[in-house]
Amino acid sequence: MTVLVTPKALANQTVRDFKMLIDGKWISGNAAPIERVAPSHGVVVSRFQAGSKADALRAIAAARKAFDTGPWPRMTASERSAILLKAADLIAARADELAYLDAIEAGKPISQVKGEIAGSVDIWRYAAALARDLHGESYNTLGDGTLGVVLREAIGVVSIITPWNFPFLIVGQKLPFALAAGCTCVVKPSELTSGSTIVLGEILQEAGVPDGVVNIVTGTGAEVGAIMTAHPDVDMVSFTGSTGVGKLTMTNAAQTLKKVSLELGGKNPQIVFPDADLDAFIDAAVFGAYFNAGECCNAGSRLILHKSIASDVVARVAALAKHVKVGDPLDPTTQVGAIITPQHFDKIAGYVAAAKSAGAEVAHGGGALDLGMGQFMAPTILSQVTPGMTVAREEVFGPVLSVLTFDTAEEAIEIANSIDYGLSAGVWSKDFDTCLTIGRRIRAGTVWMNTFMDGASELPFGGYKQSGLGRELGRHAVEDYTETKTLNMHIGSRTNWWMPRT
Ligand code: NAD
Repeated sequence: MTVLVTPKALANQTVRDFKMLIDGKWISGNAAPIERVAPSHGVVVSRFQAGSKADALRAIAAARKAFDTGPWPRMTASERSAILLKAADLIAARADELAYLDAIEAGKPISQVKGEIAGSVDIWRYAAALARDLHGESYNTLGDGTLGVVLREAIGVVSIITPWNFPFLIVGQKLPFALAAGCTCVVKPSELTSGSTIVLGEILQEAGVPDGVVNIVTGTGAEVGAIMTAHPDVDMVSFTGSTGVGKLTMTNAAQTLKKVSLELGGKNPQIVFPDADLDAFIDAAVFGAYFNAGECCNAGSRLILHKSIASDVVARVAALAKHVKVGDPLDPTTQVGAIITPQHFDKIAGYVAAAKSAGAEVAHGGGALDLGMGQFMAPTILSQVTPGMTVAREEVFGPVLSVLTFDTAEEAIEIANSIDYGLSAGVWSKDFDTCLTIGRRIRAGTVWMNTFMDGASELPFGGYKQSGLGRELGRHAVEDYTETKTLNMHIGSRTNWWMPRT
């Protein structure tokens, strides 16, 4: 446990006041601002505008006008790409400032966030490259009288709604691709972690994004987010967050049949066979469960271990978990930071208590860590978990690892697929056949083999079942923000349907 910056020292720093960006202007809301208390230090660090429904309506109108009559969708892809590349450079130049904001508002370790910002720069550059390659199809094979051309057109106004756990990274998995396609956007970050998204607004203005193309409205989901998912002038909603709010988003969007892209919760299994490289796996198990304090859609929160290795693996994971450095997110050596809010801490503790009552055993951790500030939780391992227990089926979204066991590969697959989520999974075996068989049978959007939670801008990401709808990243990411239009062109004289030609 480490403490580098005391709450008093942090409180003496200036609290940052952020505004909202609507139609190129920085504006304040009418209500009292939202004060963000750092989850690690317990003091106010940022103030965001509490945007209203009226602010959201103004932002939607600005985005609509910018799409219907503004220059952005009409620019060449080359021009849009150049602006996205400039934005990437500016993000890199302000990486320290962005990393500080995400670390202090979300309680994430600063060294980890720096990696996320670097990853985001790569994604912005990737989107800039894809912008140049967005194209449709042509059919010169439909006979002498017909030429068919299939266009890809920007879908229009996109609402982008993001959660608190990867504030800068996640907006970067959506916005640059929407912009690359020529869309205009209204962005709502989480009310807990809005700072880095607002700085992104400054960056995009400096990079040359025209007024009204990116509007950023801060505030709550009920006040700002709901209208962004329902308004008829919005053509698409790209949402990342909980499965519950994802369902609400889809219901709202259905009233006007908007396209929706949903990145939701996960309860991701790691299946381990006796022939696996256990040294590599033990590290990946600890990383997968405790990275970002387990507040991660991709967390490897279910270990499904072959019975013959289970007790050894649990002991080794527990031994390594003891060394995980939990503490001050601003300390560059910290590996796990704070839990996002006291309420969320109580929710995680509730899952642990319920699991114990249901028969699970705490092999490590299990409760709070007292650092004299903020809310921190010990990396926790629950053994003797059975597939029917709530802790094995629901997303805890905290540093809590559930251990289940299997005898046969069929049983492992059944346990892995038995829940409502299907975001990602891991399989560990030195046997190629085992890895491929499991990889093909698991119902999840990503399956890692002999590794966990690696990623690249080129690789699509998203969920099966109630983990989501659609995919982000990858070479189709820009196409996701387009409509398809067919131009069916007639060449020469047309054969009439009714009136024979004379
Ligand atoms: P959340 O669903 O509570 O909030 C997400 C966003 O939706 C926030 O901006 C919030 O203000 C907004 N919102 C809330 N109510 C709304 C409403 N009625 N209408 C419109 N918007 C509304 O999620 P969270 O607690 O911020 O984030 C944690 C969740 O996000 C977890 O379930 C996690 O698995 C998921 N997540 C998924 C991915 C992924 O890629 N699959 C990535 C990160 C997080």
